[in-house]
Amino acid sequence: MHSGKTPAPWHRYLEEAVAPRQRAIAAGQYPAQLLSDLGRLGALGDPTQDPAEWERQRFLLIEAVAALSLSAAFVVWCHTATMAYLAAGANPALRQALLPQLAAGEVAGATGLSNAMKFYAGLEPLRLQATPTRTGWRICGRLPAVSNLTRDGWMAVVAAISPEQRLLALIPTAAASVKVQERRPFVALNGTATYAVTFEGVEVPREWVVHECADAVVKAIRPAFVWTQSAMAFGAAEDLIGRLGRMADRWCGWEDFEWPGWGTVAEAMRVLRDATWELGRKDPLDPSPAHWQQVLTTRARAAWHLLDLARHAMVGLGAGGYCAGSYGATRLLEAYFLSVVTPSLKHLALELHRLRQAAEPARAPVATGLMRPAAAKWAREISGAPGR
Ligand SMILES: Cc1cc2nc3c(=O)[nH]c(=O)nc-3n(C[C@H](O)[C@H](O)[C@H](O)COP(=O)(O)OP(=O)(O)OC[C@H]3O[C@@H](n4cnc5c(N)ncnc54)[C@H](O)[C@@H]3O)c2cc1C
Repeated sequence: MHSGKTPAPWHRYLEEAVAPRQRAIAAGQYPAQLLSDLGRLGALGDPTQDPAEWERQRFLLIEAVAALSLSAAFVVWCHTATMAYLAAGANPALRQALLPQLAAGEVAGATGLSNAMKFYAGLEPLRLQATPTRTGWRICGRLPAVSNLTRDGWMAVVAAISPEQRLLALIPTAAASVKVQERRPFVALNGTATYAVTFEGVEVPREWVVHECADAVVKAIRPAFVWTQSAMAFGAAEDLIGRLGRMADRWCGWEDFEWPGWGTVAEAMRVLRDATWELGRKDPLDPSPAHWQQVLTTRARAAWHLLDLARHAMVGLGAGGYCAGSYGATRLLEAYFLSVVTPSLKHLALELHRLRQAAEPARAPVATGLMRPAAAKWAREISGAPGR
């Protein structure tokens, strides 16, 4: 994969193959060739070789794709997240069989882990249940949104075995008793192949189980899961800043409004991008509570700054930006995606509040009524926070 210093072959590919398709993807066309083309160019890499370096290359790739299309960047994020779970799992046979296919982009990887992330934050119960069978597990339940879901792809899910134990499995979309229903239209991101998925007693052999203790995998992948999402915001911001710069050359007094001008936000975003990159340059997989807090903070700030930049672009683009499907409208609606995709800004606010509370129990008010007992125990273990 690319070192970040010299242009990689995939940069040229993005300019030649993705840039001309920006509007079609924004209008809802799934970029079907993207992953296989990136795989062919070696852009998807191998997370088992040097996991930290792989995450850094993943960040740069997602950022570059997001500068052209947030939908395409989310497709790449979902796919590479699935690769990260396999690499962190405890099923070498599945890893050996599936990882090369994912790295080549021959099969698509999807991740239905937002429910699990919300579960571990104490925000909602797990939506999938696993009951033991002779050959493995039977999974029942429903996930409301899973993206990058293709007919021949695989999706990652977390299912509850008991209040104390959860498993992480990869399930083929084509498995018997998997029912999918397309989730359209969203206000944006329609090119992400997003489906609601119902598991009507899906037979999951042990061979598909990535780890019988999902908590361990989530603990390992969680910092980079969030860190690489910030790359989507920085890529989209870079594009917006370029557009705002070209527009602003023509205006007088643009920086005189009473709220922070776009140049101030652009500078704040650049500083934030450097700080975020620095977090990953040290170690994107650092499991410490301090690193987690910084990753959550930068992810939340990136989402807010991106919204600000998209809002400035809308103001600057005038009536042209107000047309459905225009550049301004697309970027604005895409920016909101980073506010609602898990971890959403609401979710981030709660996690950060809890971390502050753990650090300064006397000063921060207690967040009540949200933490489910199993998640509370897990959250204490993972964050090193004292029990209450
Ligand atoms: C286009 C699109 C694609 C998606 N793709 C995927 C995918 O590939 N995989 C996947 O797993 N999911 C996917 N999702 C789901 C997404 O990631 C989010 O999980 C979901 O949209 C957010 O859920 P929520 O609305 O319940 O909000 P959340 O903000 O996550 O809140 C969850 C619950 O906790 C409560 N809550 C949150 N924060 C607080 C707080 N601070 N204080 C009190 N209560 C709080 C909320 O009120 C809510 O009940 C997708 C969604 C979209 C729109």
